[in-house]
Amino acid sequence: MSVINIVLLCIFAMGAEQLDLVKINVTGSEQVKQLDRIGVVIDQVYPDHIIAEIEPHMYDLVYNRGFNITVLQKNISDVYLRNTMQEPKEGFRGQYLTYEQIRDSLIAIATNHPDICHLETLGVSHQNRLLLIMKISDNASIDEIEPALHFEGNIHGNEKIAWAVNFNMVSYLVDNYSSDTMVQRLINEREIWIAPLVNPDGYVNNSRYNGRGVDVNRNWGWMWGNEYNCGSDFLSENESWRFMEHFWRHPFVSYASYHSGTIFISEPWSYTSYIAPPEQNLIRHLSVGYAAFTSYPYGQGSIGMYPINGATKDYDYGCGGEIAWSIEVCYTKTPPPESIDVIFERDKPAMLLLMHKAGQGIHGQVTDSLTNEPLRAMIFVNSADWPSYSCPVNGDFHRFYLPGTYDVTVTAPGYESKTINNVVVPSGSDSSAYIDVELAPNNGLPIYATCMIGSQYVTTSSNMTYPIRALNVHDSQAYQLDANKWIVLAFDFPIHNTTGNDLSVYRSAGSGSATVMVSNDWRGSWQTLGTANSAITEFDIASAGMDSARYVRLQAQSQFMLDAIEAVQTTPGIAEDIQVEYFNLSITPTVLRNTAQLAINNPVLQPVEFKLYNCLGQKVGEMIVLPGTSYKSLQDLVAGIYFVRSSLPVVPDRFIIVK
Ligand SMILES: [Zn+2]
Repeated sequence: MSVINIVLLCIFAMGAEQLDLVKINVTGSEQVKQLDRIGVVIDQVYPDHIIAEIEPHMYDLVYNRGFNITVLQKNISDVYLRNTMQEPKEGFRGQYLTYEQIRDSLIAIATNHPDICHLETLGVSHQNRLLLIMKISDNASIDEIEPALHFEGNIHGNEKIAWAVNFNMVSYLVDNYSSDTMVQRLINEREIWIAPLVNPDGYVNNSRYNGRGVDVNRNWGWMWGNEYNCGSDFLSENESWRFMEHFWRHPFVSYASYHSGTIFISEPWSYTSYIAPPEQNLIRHLSVGYAAFTSYPYGQGSIGMYPINGATKDYDYGCGGEIAWSIEVCYTKTPPPESIDVIFERDKPAMLLLMHKAGQGIHGQVTDSLTNEPLRAMIFVNSADWPSYSCPVNGDFHRFYLPGTYDVTVTAPGYESKTINNVVVPSGSDSSAYIDVELAPNNGLPIYATCMIGSQYVTTSSNMTYPIRALNVHDSQAYQLDANKWIVLAFDFPIHNTTGNDLSVYRSAGSGSATVMVSNDWRGSWQTLGTANSAITEFDIASAGMDSARYVRLQAQSQFMLDAIEAVQTTPGIAEDIQVEYFNLSITPTVLRNTAQLAINNPVLQPVEFKLYNCLGQKVGEMIVLPGTSYKSLQDLVAGIYFVRSSLPVVPDRFIIVK
């Protein structure tokens, strides 16, 4: 061991939690969950026992609940740590890198391959480390009309082999672009996003948790809560909400999050074992394909492992219709470095299969029939009736489907919905259908909630309804919001205050009531509008002192069958012109680089305050515009849709940045 490694070992050892590998006898899934709830980290689940990791102070907690513990390996965390310090044996290339080495390697790869690599910083961790994601595609800096995929590793910081699999895939794709025709085709025809290190603080600290002690894979917004270290609120952690925003900016065909501690291809749902996800056959088809290369077992996460709330894959499939997994690749969380090559070679062809398969199914583009502007829309296919989304930048959508004949319904707020019948995905292992969908704007139609940002956990044995049933126009399909539970929904564009009532809450059945709150930030603060307590309850957002709102939060006082939330449309469709009567707002250049500016010409005599919001309603900048022309640099903004608000009511409220 080199001097540097000894120094690193000392640094890593500081603050690292000590964990022992143990066997605990159990008699059923209830007991597994009981142990999970008190902080036992469960690796493998067998019919009569689990293999788990616990901190020394937890033995009494476990004994006191009547369990037997057999110690298999004292201080397994130290074994993991030593594995990360080892040089690989001769003949093996794989090696664990430090955070700084990983960061600098990704920057170097992006710098050396600007044609096919685009490195984005989604933000920083709670201990100020970069949250990096690499996009690998031809024309990497442009959002093209291509199927996108997401791969990530190390959301649990001490599962370092999960980092290695993803990091090696970045290198593999880049290194083989010019020599391997299959890799070349995948890079040219897909947008492959890879985040090897979702939880850099956990990686550095050799901890499952992030820098604030939160389990990031319990912190996401689908049925969040009631889990050990799941965070102070849904999506409270930088390592979750930054990736959540990325998720909404780039609809993916599939979303694979890598883990270790067992081997398993873990499908949605994780939050319930009482129902299987809609389109389980599609998820299973790809699981089988993945398993053909890896021999990993597969199945619904809540059944094959144990039920958990707030997992990424439930959010990805639940909120976005993306085929999602946690993929567990190794019984040991951080095996010796010579395992890296072996495990990567095992998963590599399966990952390439997912990239290939992202081209199969139903693809298309949604545009405004009058302006030809691309539209973000909701895509529903056949009886599964489960939404996915077109890209906010290009309006393109891509969903994996098996050969067959489908009806595709496309909806966008303020537009006439359209159903295209008999869309044929021909037979063949990689066949696809492509449809162009033009939607006609209609000023008379209501706008409605289009995204489920977060919902609180429910008792899944008695509530098998889905939160996304509260989206779209009222249709008598409802989410059962149980007493004292909440849900947060987003509109694509602000609900503006109009004369009279602006917002209607539809209840499909029963006599429940719910407190209705609004905000321009998905986290709040929330202004209360009142109580929804009838089939249709109308509200005036001015009653809460608001002139606009993008987010609605409902908290049930008693079980409330939430069908939909609709609002009055105040703008002529979605595509808005950048020119307005009093203000001249321009973005230079149109396709932004780091030098871009927002220029606002203010011909009136008083200063005007401008605020910039991202597509989740969070304020990302502000400026005071004095008479004359003011400029604001946009170099800190990532690609996406932004909104401008000002103290005057006549300013355009949307612009798109492409990087
Ligand atoms: Zn994990």
